Amino acid sequence: MKKILEIYNNAKGPVYSFEFFPPKTDEGEGKLTETLRELSRLQPGYITVTYGAGGSTRDKTIRLTSDLAKQFDLPAAAHFTCVGGNREEIRSILGEIYSSGIRNLMALRGDPPKGQGEFQKAEGGFGHASELISFIKSEGFDFCIGGACYPEKHPQARSLEEDVDNLKKKVDAGASYLVSQLFFKNEIFESFLGLVRKKGISVPVIPGIMPITSFSQIERFRAMAACEFPEELLSDLEEVRNRPEEFYRRSLNFSVRQCRELLSLGSPGIHLYTLNQSHASYDIVRELEN
Ligand SMILES: Cc1cc2nc3c(=O)[nH]c(=O)nc-3n(C[C@H](O)[C@H](O)[C@H](O)COP(=O)(O)OP(=O)(O)OC[C@H]3O[C@@H](n4cnc5c(N)ncnc54)[C@H](O)[C@@H]3O)c2cc1C
Repeated sequence: MKKILEIYNNAKGPVYSFEFFPPKTDEGEGKLTETLRELSRLQPGYITVTYGAGGSTRDKTIRLTSDLAKQFDLPAAAHFTCVGGNREEIRSILGEIYSSGIRNLMALRGDPPKGQGEFQKAEGGFGHASELISFIKSEGFDFCIGGACYPEKHPQARSLEEDVDNLKKKVDAGASYLVSQLFFKNEIFESFLGLVRKKGISVPVIPGIMPITSFSQIERFRAMAACEFPEELLSDLEEVRNRPEEFYRRSLNFSVRQCRELLSLGSPGIHLYTLNQSHASYDIVRELEN
């Protein structure tokens, strides 16, 4: 399986990648296969499959990443978190991932399972993604390792500066590329990237983009204070919140403009949070390729 860093290093144009989550039901898995059948027509650089909070999808994540990669002949990354696992358990899961043929890993600290409050380091486990990444390297697993980054800072970090200092530890430990949390203001990403480079982080940083599919999705993000939205986008979309076709057209235009600008600023690719739906991600990439 191709390594993701090689894909970025050898790319002749923007690399588009798609993120999926493991569905709960067999029916959902069937739909996911259909989604990927559609998206694979765009010849994405690679796909990724998330790891459920608290490791709840462990077996499914490994199986789906491996099966979808083979079925669609695409490089793939399994996401993996260190929530709840000690070294022995983590070593054993890494072994399973490796044996299934997967060679790319998005290595994360993870969030605690719902209702558990703050992240608790497991006894004999790891407290940060950088520690997990050092462990993966020290155990000799030949994965290409990606890490997460946060243009609007990780919610637990006291400042963006401190968060980027911690990000440097993650890269120094062995993360070969970084994928960002979703964001809607390019100026925030640009200034984050400036800080990242100033701190001596030189690996590819890939913007993570989530297509906007409904106004309630925006309201949810705003309630969580997860990210800033451009005022103009908000008023444009609010105006048509009950007109699905026009809503779709406007949100698609916004995402395409956002991605075009990011690519023109030098982003090596776009990572799309598909939410297991093909429509919006397909249309965004198709527009960008035109
Ligand atoms: C692209 C992407 C994919 C994701 N996929 C998943 C997924 O599949 N499953 C899932 O459960 N979650 C996923 N998440 C969410 C992620 O697990 C959470 O955001 C989690 O809270 C942090 O994980 P991390 O790997 O970024 O942690 P870390 O890099 O460990 O950072 C967490 C916090 O600790 C601080 N920190 C880091 N290192 C140090 C250090 N050495 N010393 C002191 N402080 C430090 C950081 O500043 C930050 O505030 C994803 C996030 C992104 C952006």
